[in-house]
Amino acid sequence: MLKELREIVQRVTASSDLNEAMSELVKKTREAMHVDCCSIYLRQDLEQAYLLAATDGLAVEAVGHAKIPLGEGIVGLIGEKEELINLADAQHHPKFKYLPEAHEDAFKSFLGAPIIHQRKALGVLVVQQKQVRLFEEGEESFLVTLASQLATVIAHAEAKGNLKSPNWHGMLRGLAGSPGVAIGRAWVWRPRVELNQVKARKGDDVAAQHERFDKVLIQVEDELDSMALRFKESQASESVAVFEVYQYILKDPVFIGLIREEIERGWTAGSAVKRVCEKQIAQFSTMSDPYLRERAADVRDLGQRLLTRLIHEDEGPLTLAEPIILVADEISATLIAEIPRDKLRGIVSAKGSINSHAAILARAMGIPAVMGIDHSFELLEERTLIVDGYSGELLVEPVASVLREYRRLIAEEAQMDELFATVRNERSVTRDGVTVSLLLNAGLSADTDIAMNDAADGVGLFRTEIPFMMRDRFPSEQEQASNYRRVLTSYVGKPVCMRTLDVGGDKQLPYFPIVEENPFLGWRGIRLTLDHPEIFLVQLKAMLRASQGLDNLSIMLPMVGNLDEVRVARRLLDRAWREVSAETGEQQGVIRYPSLGVMIEVPSLLYQLPELAPLVDFWSVGTNDLTQYLLAVDRNNGRVADIYDAMHPAVLRALQQIIDAARRYAKPVSICGELAGDPVGVLVLLAMGYRRFSMNNSNIMRIKYIVRQSRTDELKKVFQEALSHQHSGAFKGVFGRYLEERGLGGLLRPGR
Ligand code: PEP
Ligand code: MG
Repeated sequence: MLKELREIVQRVTASSDLNEAMSELVKKTREAMHVDCCSIYLRQDLEQAYLLAATDGLAVEAVGHAKIPLGEGIVGLIGEKEELINLADAQHHPKFKYLPEAHEDAFKSFLGAPIIHQRKALGVLVVQQKQVRLFEEGEESFLVTLASQLATVIAHAEAKGNLKSPNWHGMLRGLAGSPGVAIGRAWVWRPRVELNQVKARKGDDVAAQHERFDKVLIQVEDELDSMALRFKESQASESVAVFEVYQYILKDPVFIGLIREEIERGWTAGSAVKRVCEKQIAQFSTMSDPYLRERAADVRDLGQRLLTRLIHEDEGPLTLAEPIILVADEISATLIAEIPRDKLRGIVSAKGSINSHAAILARAMGIPAVMGIDHSFELLEERTLIVDGYSGELLVEPVASVLREYRRLIAEEAQMDELFATVRNERSVTRDGVTVSLLLNAGLSADTDIAMNDAADGVGLFRTEIPFMMRDRFPSEQEQASNYRRVLTSYVGKPVCMRTLDVGGDKQLPYFPIVEENPFLGWRGIRLTLDHPEIFLVQLKAMLRASQGLDNLSIMLPMVGNLDEVRVARRLLDRAWREVSAETGEQQGVIRYPSLGVMIEVPSLLYQLPELAPLVDFWSVGTNDLTQYLLAVDRNNGRVADIYDAMHPAVLRALQQIIDAARRYAKPVSICGELAGDPVGVLVLLAMGYRRFSMNNSNIMRIKYIVRQSRTDELKKVFQEALSHQHSGAFKGVFGRYLEERGLGGLLRPGR
């Protein structure tokens, strides 16, 4: 039966129309199982009934009409119990309900399986036979398998179907990615068109093709100018260089002339771009000079920009007149960089979860975000949306009263932010006199969070991946050094902790693809850089060179799981320091040997803390990954987002163990995962004894405000009370009340 099953599943999932898919399924299932009838009943919430949605065997006229109220009949019983029912003679079952319009009389045996998606019963799949007999085990599992496949198809179709009506308004549920509320129009980002996706073809109006090309040429030139300007303003000079190369190519008369020649030969503008770019890429790729070889990637990217514009001629993020809600299948750092900050109100992403780097970036920028909305985004285009980043809800075309309410919440939030801003220049000290260090997490966004934040006591985590991801090759030592120097000079006299490259997992380099079944368990962070000492050494040297005369650098290693990784990294740091010191010479000033620390984020380190302590100068707890690895819950996967919990009792115990060990071995310890910037999280950590927290820019002020409103002696008692609750919700509730009592309940949900 496996062959038949596979065939049915393939046909059903390939079908673009739900009714067609269901008719196909009942017909094929009836044939494959050699039964007399197969039907699908779908749950209708509004009518509180199961509706006959497809059948092969019952009266076709009943499709779309015959209904069984929820909880009635055997179909209702299956939906209620959410389990399979196998009856030799259904008509004798006490729950049997006769559906006259469906002409069910002839059927005796009955096998029904619930159709369940994400714990919700969507319907029931039934097969029936005239003969009195119990269905076999193999038939049961066949039906259960089909029902589970059908569930996904129905769930998707329902979501899309809802949006198909232009007047539909309502709510889509996702995950809370970044707190806050935003109202605006949807702007759906379409992925860039690839050169090889376009089929070269001839057009008939040469003049019109020239005109199209001229138009997009100007658009792309403007786009690159604005991007370069934005990066210049943020002094990200190595990023500016990329745009300048593009501008140079676009002004190259030979390149442009070749495209015009192709248009003259009758090719459409898009085909001409494709043909010329592909030829140039082929030529550049074979060159022996590495600089020229790299130009292939520039031409490809530029060609794709031109093509994307040609295909979606009238769009352009940089010509956005109004602020937008960015809606995309997947949000990347580069995508966010393309949209001016003042034009970006909110983010909706199909992929990613609460602790994916896209969500962290949204939080760092203070942009409300909802993740994991798996819907047909085309249909959201231009519609008014409310992004509720507290609840993870997306409201589509809300009615006037709802809009009014959310506008009021936004105004209240602005008032709260004003309140938090009053502590900008105050010390972060609790009401019982305990001083706390509040540090900045920076580096995820290219242009927003590097600038000096005078409310912060330094940088607790500088993620170095972005300059590596924004390019088409590894950045040189000089390029890296000037980038790091910019960060270190922004924080003269304050500590800056730079983390060595942490690519792998959900952070991929376009020019160094890693294909793995389990990327988060694979070649990531220190594992990759130790396998490539040439990359690691260049980065270490760039950091050391950048720190000359500033003496505020410390270096941190990501994804450490065993002590040998630390020992080897230390040897490489020694070597980098010796070499850089020898090269710079005495008269330029000595380069201070930086302190070296590790991220505690792989659970194996929890059991090696005594041995780890003498090898490093400090620890920093990465609660994002520690939670993911301790609970075996992918931080990016929306399906398991409800069990990703940084305040799970196991994570809390691990955190307690780390702070206890830090005290025992006199090791400075900080928290740099998202938990540190969470209003409840920081209270829990204060109660445990943590005193150094690193968080994104937009959280510093509100966390400082919370710290200044709290007393550690009170928090210790609250913690003891909270620990008496086994359930994480109740645990958090106890701390939530502490915030409410101080007028800070609005940090947990919209409004005051
Ligand atoms: C962490 O894992 O908690 C962390 C701070 O690092 P990242 O989010 O970059 O993986
Ligand atoms: Mg991490």
